[in-house]
Amino acid sequence: MAKKTEEKIVYVDSKGKRLDGRKVEELRPIKIRAGVIPSADGSAYLEWGQNKVFAAVHGPRPCLPKHTASPYKAVIKFDYKMATFSVPDRKNPRPSRREIEISKVCGEALEKAIFVERFPNTEIVVIVAVIDSDAGSRIASLTAASVAMADAGIPMRDMVTGTGIGRAGGKMLVDLNKAEEDAPDAVDIPLAILPNSKEIVLLQMDGIMTKKEWEDVYPLGEKAIMQVYELQKNALKAKYAKNGVEEK
Ligand code: UDP
Repeated sequence: MAKKTEEKIVYVDSKGKRLDGRKVEELRPIKIRAGVIPSADGSAYLEWGQNKVFAAVHGPRPCLPKHTASPYKAVIKFDYKMATFSVPDRKNPRPSRREIEISKVCGEALEKAIFVERFPNTEIVVIVAVIDSDAGSRIASLTAASVAMADAGIPMRDMVTGTGIGRAGGKMLVDLNKAEEDAPDAVDIPLAILPNSKEIVLLQMDGIMTKKEWEDVYPLGEKAIMQVYELQKNALKAKYAKNGVEEK
């Protein structure tokens, strides 16, 4: 039987341009707005390329049910949810293993930035709704949740800021989109840090890369993360900068 010849996709062309025209170290366009959900204590809306997410924060408030409380700290309850229409094939509305995993790792990452020990026996609930996605939605969610947390006035030692980094078509890239994540040799690494201390708070790895590749791509990721951090601060300033009075 004749073998089907598959056309080889060039993920970075001779001019250093990616499939969507970006440079290897370039982020997709990002927009962030703080304070978009009046019923929440803090909130944010974020667009990151095609990804669109809302984040709402409630708390600190008495932790219920009580057996989930800690006498030593606030418990962060992070709930990442994808809308049924957020992906090309309808997403089953039941919580998936993937959503449970993402909620866990994002909650743990966010906790690193919060003075949770100041609020024993309480919960801080973070609900993230993904309404559109194109890879990198967990980092988009965490980035929005961090802005929502600051908007809620919850004491934080730092923001949580991230980007995806990885490899497609043999090239090291920042902020992979879905087409790049689906490359045959793809390595996808969601990465989030505390931008001031540079402590890594979320690092997952789908695929395998060499130490050299990691050493090449990590600095690009860190540089991109500092750009995202500026956008997070600008979103908060846009709401609060006016003489410290909330914009109506
Ligand atoms: N995705 C999908 N259906 C699903 C889950 C994910 O089409 O049930 C898409 C979605 O666009 C997502 C992308 O696959 O952004 C990559 O998913 P991954 O699990 O790598 O998480 P993410 O990169 O979004 O954090």
